[in-house]
Amino acid sequence: MTQRLRMSSILAVLLFLLVFLSLGAGCPTFSCRFTVMVDPGHGGKDPGAIGINGVYEKKINLAIAQMVYLKSLGHPELRVILARRNDEYIYPTDRVKEANRIGADLYVSIHANAYRQASVSGVETLVHETQGRGSQSYRLAEILQQHIVSQTGARDRGVKWAPLFIRQAQMPAALIEVGFITHRFEAKLLQSLSYQSKIADAILDAILEFLYKP
Ligand SMILES: [Zn+2]
Repeated sequence: MTQRLRMSSILAVLLFLLVFLSLGAGCPTFSCRFTVMVDPGHGGKDPGAIGINGVYEKKINLAIAQMVYLKSLGHPELRVILARRNDEYIYPTDRVKEANRIGADLYVSIHANAYRQASVSGVETLVHETQGRGSQSYRLAEILQQHIVSQTGARDRGVKWAPLFIRQAQMPAALIEVGFITHRFEAKLLQSLSYQSKIADAILDAILEFLYKP
């Protein structure tokens, strides 16, 4: 292949990927049954927590969310939309507004945790403080928590209530704290592709369980 031909085929592939990703759809519009907004927390000017060796929470959140998106492409009835696709800042409440606007069925926000004590580790899932145990958001949080803990073997810190921006979500919504970037070992795991992939698998499994086993 000539240099020029090679360049143009690379460009064609890139263009295809760009169009494909910008559609943000894992399923053709006619076969989509469920739309899920996956929100990689923070971004752009907001790094989120800063962990060991200066690792930024926003990077880990985005890496995991992108994996959830890619893995979702194998599920023709599911459309995963990312609240941000790159390192940009979007107000958290605007992300929720967008989910409301498009009528998403679920809202899953991905975050990583930090604490001043380096010994603290584990996974927790948060729901807005008004979402009781009988609510759909609480059920979503429980399923997410259970899948992530069993997939990763991380310490189970349970489902917790907090005042959260996702209170405006008109669909079941939960926020996952996938681990502590201030814990030496967990921070290392959270930066590895294989661990990120395990978490993404768990999130996708949880989403499917929630949607298909009401
Ligand atoms: Zn965060």
